Amino acid sequence: MVVSLGLPDVHRFFVSPERLAHGKVEFTPEQSRQLATVLRARPGEHVIVLDNGGWMYDVELAAVSPETTSGIICSRRLAPNEPRTKLTLYPALLKSDKLELVLQKCTEIGASGFAPVISNRCNVGTIVSENRRQRWERIIVEAAEQSERGRLPQLHPAILFPQACEHVRGRGLSFIAWERGERQGLRSVLVERLKSGASARPFAMNLFLGPEGGFTEDEIEMARSYGIIPVSLGPRILRAETAAIVGTTLIMAETGDLE
Ligand code: SAM
Repeated sequence: MVVSLGLPDVHRFFVSPERLAHGKVEFTPEQSRQLATVLRARPGEHVIVLDNGGWMYDVELAAVSPETTSGIICSRRLAPNEPRTKLTLYPALLKSDKLELVLQKCTEIGASGFAPVISNRCNVGTIVSENRRQRWERIIVEAAEQSERGRLPQLHPAILFPQACEHVRGRGLSFIAWERGERQGLRSVLVERLKSGASARPFAMNLFLGPEGGFTEDEIEMARSYGIIPVSLGPRILRAETAAIVGTTLIMAETGDLE
């Protein structure tokens, strides 16, 4: 049975390259359990496997059990659905459910990376436990599989605001979403910069988003000193998680990555 890759009813799994060898795929124990008990998959059925290296494989399941599941690679092609714009979000550390919403929704929209930022007015614990980090990774993987992404957005370790400013230096166009003060709309800055060719394709962009209490004036000034452009997301005050979704959408739309 030939299955055209990308059919919506074909399940997709990100599998690390070392599990793809000699034309075979060995799924992880978690994926085996999901295939055998949740999806009740059977040998002979086809799934899509992505190696997070840009390749997508049509795989015929060979053995399926909750403990171990394997498959045979039938064909491969370049994984589509990746935006040309490599957008990394720098969201301030928020309460878990809010940051998890940012990870899920912005993965679906097309963000390529997340670097949580510890800014002055963060009012949550700034130590990210291994459990929490793994939960965030799982949310990203599930959102990427569901939205048929070709690659997994990268989750960077949480960093302090000054480190984040240093991190983006020389790495494309950088913006800091600011709901106060003198600043241009994100969209009009993008139109200006993209038209002027200030940033060569593929675009690397970075977007900082503040915590519930917002950024301090000093943080905005520090960002400016690094060439990070304060931008408005409109005249209304958005929740931090809403701002991340709006900012990501505006950038993806303006660079043509939502076409
Ligand atoms: N200080 C704000 C207030 O007065 O209520 C609260 C900050 S807002 C809840 C959280 C973050 O979302 C801000 O730090 C900013 O990064 C972003 N944000 C919200 N609304 C925005 C807007 N209209 N323009 C630009 N950024 C915005």
